[in-house]
Amino acid sequence: MPEAETSARESMAYDVVIVGGGPAGLAAAIRLKQLDAEISVCILEKGSEIGAHILSGAVIDPRALTELIPDWKEKGAPVETSVTEDRFWFFTKTSAFPLPHILFPPLMSNKGNYIVSLSNLCKWLGQQAESLGVEIYPGFPAQQLIVEDGAVKGVITGDLGVARDGHRKDSFTRGMELRAKYTFFAEGARGSLSKQLGEKFALHKGREQQKFGIGLKELWELAPGQHRKGLVLHGMGWPLDNETGGGLFLYHWGDNLCSVGFVVHLNYKNPWLDPFCEFQRAKTHPAIARMFAGGKRIGYGARAITEGGYQSVPQLSFPGGALIGCAAGFVNLPRIKGSHNAMKTGMLAAEAAAAALKAGRAGDRLSDYDTAYAKSWVARDLYLVRNAKPLWSRLGSLLALPFIGLDMWTNQLFGVSLFGTLGHGEPDFATLRKAADSAKISYPRPDGQLTFDRLSSVFLSGTNHEEDQPVHLVLRDPAIPISVNLPEYAEPAQRYCPAGVYEVVDEGSGPRFQINAQNCVHCKTCDIKDPSQNITWVTPEGGGGPNYANM
Ligand SMILES: Cc1cc2nc3c(=O)[nH]c(=O)nc-3n(C[C@H](O)[C@H](O)[C@H](O)COP(=O)(O)OP(=O)(O)OC[C@H]3O[C@@H](n4cnc5c(N)ncnc54)[C@H](O)[C@@H]3O)c2cc1C
Ligand code: SF4
Repeated sequence: MPEAETSARESMAYDVVIVGGGPAGLAAAIRLKQLDAEISVCILEKGSEIGAHILSGAVIDPRALTELIPDWKEKGAPVETSVTEDRFWFFTKTSAFPLPHILFPPLMSNKGNYIVSLSNLCKWLGQQAESLGVEIYPGFPAQQLIVEDGAVKGVITGDLGVARDGHRKDSFTRGMELRAKYTFFAEGARGSLSKQLGEKFALHKGREQQKFGIGLKELWELAPGQHRKGLVLHGMGWPLDNETGGGLFLYHWGDNLCSVGFVVHLNYKNPWLDPFCEFQRAKTHPAIARMFAGGKRIGYGARAITEGGYQSVPQLSFPGGALIGCAAGFVNLPRIKGSHNAMKTGMLAAEAAAAALKAGRAGDRLSDYDTAYAKSWVARDLYLVRNAKPLWSRLGSLLALPFIGLDMWTNQLFGVSLFGTLGHGEPDFATLRKAADSAKISYPRPDGQLTFDRLSSVFLSGTNHEEDQPVHLVLRDPAIPISVNLPEYAEPAQRYCPAGVYEVVDEGSGPRFQINAQNCVHCKTCDIKDPSQNITWVTPEGGGGPNYANM
């Protein structure tokens, strides 16, 4: 996208503009106001309200929340279900083997953690931020960077009222320019502007590239007899084969609620693999299926998750701004936790910006934030588990498990790893084998009770986009899906997209690539996994996308 044409737009100026109202952006905003109520702070959020686009597990480590708002319990934070049972199973097709706790060091324990809806927690954090004077604009995606004299000076929100063919409708409203002394990018995994910043300022130079997974999730209301409030269950193995990383999570919380989800590492190799169908199949395991008897599925969604960890953390600051949270990538993969690190990095960036503003600075690099991160408990959290992902990618699930356990033990006990710091290898888009060299996978048909199809699932995500707008999945070369991806990889977008956005249709005149953009749940998987790197996800018209509740 070209840099902004900034004249003749309405413009507003703030001390700090934050792109993204997730845990990172909200924690940053709150911390800024706590440090100095006079700092003007604005959050832009592309969802129709705060929390509408937040999808997570979520078992949270409350450490950052407690640092940010020590009396969160008294203030009524929606953090109520303590973890009471913590299980890890290895699945074969018919059996489930509990893995002994001794395999995992204390850093993996969920003692003191809570099962929440991160979407609800963000709504509550949004209220806390507003009560401190933060201005929050939901339904306003930041679409372009303002870069002047080599520094980020703010962002421009997307235009409203542009038709699919590009002409301006009667409802046309030009996007606004939001200028700031510092702009924080808190867009979460694979942020569209964060990706541009990474390239523009070479933020990944000398670091490992970021790695990703796709996480799919359903929310169920269980039959009361099946609910064990506080149960946390993680599983690996079947239905994934040994060369494909990922696994199941299942959390019982609230009033008979169960969050069940499945993560597939996006460095999977078989282009016939379908993460959505793997998730559906995982629920049919006899040890899992019985929990859902008499229950009802009430929510669905999907989102990419960062997996690169310690060695993939980019340079965090650049002139005029910083990446915070999963826009940089702070998920601790073996713990499947990132929200505590997202919040803490938001707070660290806020502290650096508040000090800079106090000193009369603007638009320079907040290098104190990089330093504070390197010394923080976030860096240590990631450092201790830095080899889990590379070992999993190299050795396959079965063999990796004891090595990951051993590596995390030596790291936690002695601060050393037998492996040093391993690299991640190829980027996720480059790992697919050719379709002709890969075994086709046939998935069972959904039964509509325990397993479902994509369209009924997307319906439950509340996804909605204005139909007459430019397609927000931008193809660099519209011919590639049919001329390259179809013959070589059987066009994997048809399978990796969890919302049925991409189809190859043939109405008699040969195959045609169809994009059903209105179904997009903003997971960003296509931007990451397309083997030709031909798809760029850009922000659609404001407020479009999923409307997650309790996710
Ligand atoms: C399936 C799954 C399970 C997980 N389980 C857990 C768990 O159990 N525990 C845990 O701690 N972590 C878990 N995580 C990780 C955790 O969800 C993330 O680490 C955390 O959400 C990152 O917070 P963030 O604020 O950086 O980004 P996000 O939560 O992704 O929030 C980003 C926000 O920015 C908005 N946004 C993005 N781009 C723009 C733009 N250009 N303009 C305006 N708004 C924009 C988005 O709409 C969104 O609201 C899980 C993740 C997934 C996907
Ligand atoms: S189109 Fe891309 S971002 Fe949208 S749901 Fe499909 S894979 Fe995810």
